[in-house]
Amino acid sequence: MKLTQRLQNAKKTLFSFEIIPPLKGESIASIFQAIDPLMEFKPPFIDVTYHREEYVYKNSGNGLLAKQRTRKRPGTVGICAAIMNKYHIDAVPHLICGGFNKEETENALIDLHFLGVENILVLRGDAVKSEGAFVPHPDGHAYATDLLAHVMDMNQGKYLDDDLLNPDPTNFCVGVAGYPEKHFEAPNLDTDLRYLKMKVDMGAQYIVTQMFFDNQKFFKFVEKCREMGINVPIIPGLKPLATKAQLSVLPRIFHIDIPMDLVAAAEKCKTNAEVKQLGIEWCIAQSKELMAQGVPCLHYYTMSKSDAVYKIAKGVF
Ligand code: FAD
Repeated sequence: MKLTQRLQNAKKTLFSFEIIPPLKGESIASIFQAIDPLMEFKPPFIDVTYHREEYVYKNSGNGLLAKQRTRKRPGTVGICAAIMNKYHIDAVPHLICGGFNKEETENALIDLHFLGVENILVLRGDAVKSEGAFVPHPDGHAYATDLLAHVMDMNQGKYLDDDLLNPDPTNFCVGVAGYPEKHFEAPNLDTDLRYLKMKVDMGAQYIVTQMFFDNQKFFKFVEKCREMGINVPIIPGLKPLATKAQLSVLPRIFHIDIPMDLVAAAEKCKTNAEVKQLGIEWCIAQSKELMAQGVPCLHYYTMSKSDAVYKIAKGVF
């Protein structure tokens, strides 16, 4: 079912979460182990992230290191099929521009369409880990707006090949990313929101946000979106703090602030087990406040480890 339809039909705030594919060579069992306990909270959909290639250095046998391109976490499309098959709920694959040419992207969309996947989250993707800035594939898409236009074309039965005999229109409900604390490359929040509005005007039907730890930032973001005429559902993304190191890691990777109260409380913790418990309590409080404000769904970043999110969901749903 289309995610927007689910949100519309829901009588209360829904529970959903995101998992990441296992490292290449690992079993899918770890994914099922992460999902199984969370099924108690009846998620109508599960997101599966997409990961581009990275460069690794391998010993080439002669004492030299050879630089190799590899995708360490393949399997997004297969995991989506496995989730739909095992749990009979929707799987929402993330689709990224980075590292793929347009034909590869189109072929992935055809696979998803044939599998019966109806919802996708369309993203630009990040830079290659060893590179400072995002560089689009020479034959690929540069922004989420470009990938979105491609999906919208396919929804109209317009494929890259314009001489197909009987092109079957796809029927994807598309979500996009939003950043309550702005995307790190945007010169300011208003400019970032202009592009977010462009994505919605082009056909994006819902927004999932980057993680945040201060609900006021989310509320202000939603207010600004509404002022600008962005009227689609906005789903808050939440991640519980898990270790002391994350106090600097999360801001560095995700370009977000951690509120002073949370930092001060985390600094007082003697062990990471205490930080984890603090993160759970903070996230429960955040979730309850968001729920009280009527958000359509609470979406949790599990990093494929479900114990903290299980405790949060138990305290909220
Ligand atoms: P865009 O919307 O393309 O925006 C990128 C930047 O360009 C912004 O600063 C924006 O203001 C600007 N901009 C947007 N459109 C235009 C335009 N047409 N012209 C000029 N400037 C423009 N990454 C992954 O690799 N895999 C994942 O599975 C994944 N899942 C994510 C899920 C969520 C909910 C979120 C919030 C992020 C996720 N990311 C993922 C990270 C995401 O790919 C990065 O944050 C990336 O840097 C930006 O992606 P985007 O889709 O927001 O980009």
